[in-house]
Amino acid sequence: MPTLYVVGTPIGNLQDLSERAKATLGSVNVILCEDTRVTGKLLSHFDIHVPTLSYHHHSGIAKTDKIIALLEGGQNVALVTDAGTPGISDPGGRLIEELIMHFGESLTITPIPGPCALVAALSIAGVPADEFVFLGFPPHKRGRQSFFERIHLTHSTVVFYESTHRILKTLGELAIRIPERKLIVCRELTKMFETIYRGTAQEVTAKLESSSIKGEFVIVVSPL
Ligand code: SAM
Repeated sequence: MPTLYVVGTPIGNLQDLSERAKATLGSVNVILCEDTRVTGKLLSHFDIHVPTLSYHHHSGIAKTDKIIALLEGGQNVALVTDAGTPGISDPGGRLIEELIMHFGESLTITPIPGPCALVAALSIAGVPADEFVFLGFPPHKRGRQSFFERIHLTHSTVVFYESTHRILKTLGELAIRIPERKLIVCRELTKMFETIYRGTAQEVTAKLESSSIKGEFVIVVSPL
């Protein structure tokens, strides 16, 4: 039985692709990716010429069946996402669940660990990370209030993701819900404009408003 490799890829800086990830991507028969154009750029940068197949949040059972057929046909498969670790606020978890249901323990599923934005943020946050709660993205509408209420009620470190379009709105809600708690807001980790903002939600908002505010963000909320 072949192997499914779950491969972490860079969250910005291409030098963060590990030697093992490179070798794995170069050796499999097929690479499952969220967006074939995004992964295509990564592969061509490393001169890797392996066929890709899209697998994303909206992929249905027909795609899973196709992946099962590839594995049953003896093909080794790698799973990547646009950036970071598959399954972390990204596609992957459901596919692995379905493959385990189909193959049981006869399929080898191997992690090729790599970058992950939440882990990178925690590594420089300077807050306890022996225990933390990761909440993914705040919901846009339904469940948004309870998302912030949950942060308010959580005494340990909290980490979540936010996009460039909603960062100020989210900081505004944090300023109301948890005005005293210190935040570590990490922008564009590993990229040219990497910036770490530390302070209360109000202080970070002031710093962000005086900059260009573009980029991807990880927000770490310090524990009580
Ligand atoms: N699977 C990815 C991982 O392992 O980190 C996360 C994918 S999630 C769809 C994308 C979100 O992760 C972004 O909106 C942002 O909140 C965060 N993110 C990804 N790359 C980042 C970076 N270089 N700097 C800051 N945040 C980042």
